[in-house]
Amino acid sequence: MEFNILTPELTRALAAIIGEEYAVLPTDAEGMQHYTHDETEDLRYMPELVLKPKNAAEISRIMRLCHENIIPVTPRGAGTGLSGGALAVHGGVVLSTERLNAIIQIDEQNLQATVEPGVITQVFQEAVIARGLYYPPDPSSRGSCFLGGNLSESSGGPRAVKYGVTKDYVLNMEVVLPTGEITWTGANVLKNATGYNLTQLLIGSEGTLGVITKIVFRLIPYPPQNLVMLVPFRKEEEACAAVSRIFMAGIVPSALEFMERDAIEWTSRYLGLGMVMAEDERAHLLIELDGNDMDLLYKDAERVYEVLETFDVGEILVADTEKQKEDLWRLRRNVGHAVKSNSIYKEEDTVVPRAQLPVLLRGVKEIGERYAFKSVCYGHAGDGNLHINIVKGDMSDDDWDNKLPEGIKEIFRLCVSLGGTISGEHGIGLVQRPYIGIALNEVQLYLMRGIKQLFDPRGILNPGKIF
Ligand SMILES: Cc1cc2nc3c(=O)[nH]c(=O)nc-3n(C[C@H](O)[C@H](O)[C@H](O)COP(=O)(O)OP(=O)(O)OC[C@H]3O[C@@H](n4cnc5c(N)ncnc54)[C@H](O)[C@@H]3O)c2cc1C
Repeated sequence: MEFNILTPELTRALAAIIGEEYAVLPTDAEGMQHYTHDETEDLRYMPELVLKPKNAAEISRIMRLCHENIIPVTPRGAGTGLSGGALAVHGGVVLSTERLNAIIQIDEQNLQATVEPGVITQVFQEAVIARGLYYPPDPSSRGSCFLGGNLSESSGGPRAVKYGVTKDYVLNMEVVLPTGEITWTGANVLKNATGYNLTQLLIGSEGTLGVITKIVFRLIPYPPQNLVMLVPFRKEEEACAAVSRIFMAGIVPSALEFMERDAIEWTSRYLGLGMVMAEDERAHLLIELDGNDMDLLYKDAERVYEVLETFDVGEILVADTEKQKEDLWRLRRNVGHAVKSNSIYKEEDTVVPRAQLPVLLRGVKEIGERYAFKSVCYGHAGDGNLHINIVKGDMSDDDWDNKLPEGIKEIFRLCVSLGGTISGEHGIGLVQRPYIGIALNEVQLYLMRGIKQLFDPRGILNPGKIF
């Protein structure tokens, strides 16, 4: 697809739609910097213009003008994405949703909420908790990522294991199409058998089919009690094997997270927590149980202990203060930052049926040995979702650029052969695009390309992503 370059006249016309003070022009090199990258590796792309509209009507006018003039538009949330989705790889306009940040309504009668996409996930969670309600999806980046970004990536997070991912809480959305029309995708109801499910089609579409401008969520009552424990294992694979055994014992934890020794050690150092681990501890599970009744939670915990006793585990730490719980969660949520502060890295977001986790972990380490790369693995083990951080360390640039992609292909082929796929929650975006053929066949890709063509006949919305 050939795109046009923004002329000074077009730049002025686009900025005038929202008011010049809400546009970042190319002359403002410093202001532009923030929009050149997200959290994906060390990638940077310079847009020609950044626009910060306030509502769907402004976005509609922007889209019409860009569609008419064949200018690429890259929607952007908070820029915490890990697959390069918010990067303006073809230049053009970055459309930031940071000013669409209102919680419009919390409807306690229907357990629903209507919000704009630029609301920070944690801000929304706290607002509904204050009313005794719960919005469970909680990516580890929840303190900074936006709800619109969460929808676009169909984000998960630690609590997905019990409560499901973002897509399970969306009832309806207002979107602006690449051609400028504004439409709702569904209805504000819990059941809907009326035509194709456009809401779910747009979720996880990574900003390639439309710009989300309003979201209607369903909520659930807030479970006020929880119990958090950190369990050390002497063998990594046993930690993975324990995951499916806990479910087989009839327990559904509200979080079940895996961290290799390096993940904990690096993060403890990064946060200055000074955690001490026994020499022989190779991996940990962070387990959380939640509910309404503490006595029932203790009973569930006993059953978890019974499962754990059948493995070679060290001393289990049960957090008995809120501060201890917070510290354990802070540790888990910061693994990605800790790895990033250590070295250039690539993060793979693999997912397999959870009983296959030990096979996946063993396979990753074997592939790493053959291709001479180190990996730090952690993630949402309860969902079979293993984040594999491949660390560049002292690997040569040549090996990193040319040899490593072959190793990554092997990891992805292994996932697919185990019944899994190549992204559980971070999306395909830019960086996983070369590998999509490993997970999707020609028929699937043909249908997806056809959908893209229908929504976006000129291919201007977030080009260079997914396909
Ligand atoms: C430390 C760390 C931990 C993380 N932990 C998790 C985790 O546990 N689980 C998880 O799933 N992810 C996690 N992530 C990844 C990331 O935070 C999520 O993908 C998040 O949902 C991205 O939100 P964002 O607002 O930053 O989106 P951005 O990065 O700005 O954009 C992501 C994609 O969404 C599109 N987009 C954004 N807003 C809109 C909109 N309104 N309309 C249409 N398209 C839009 C963009 O074009 C882009 O393709 C983590 C990231 C970091 C850095």
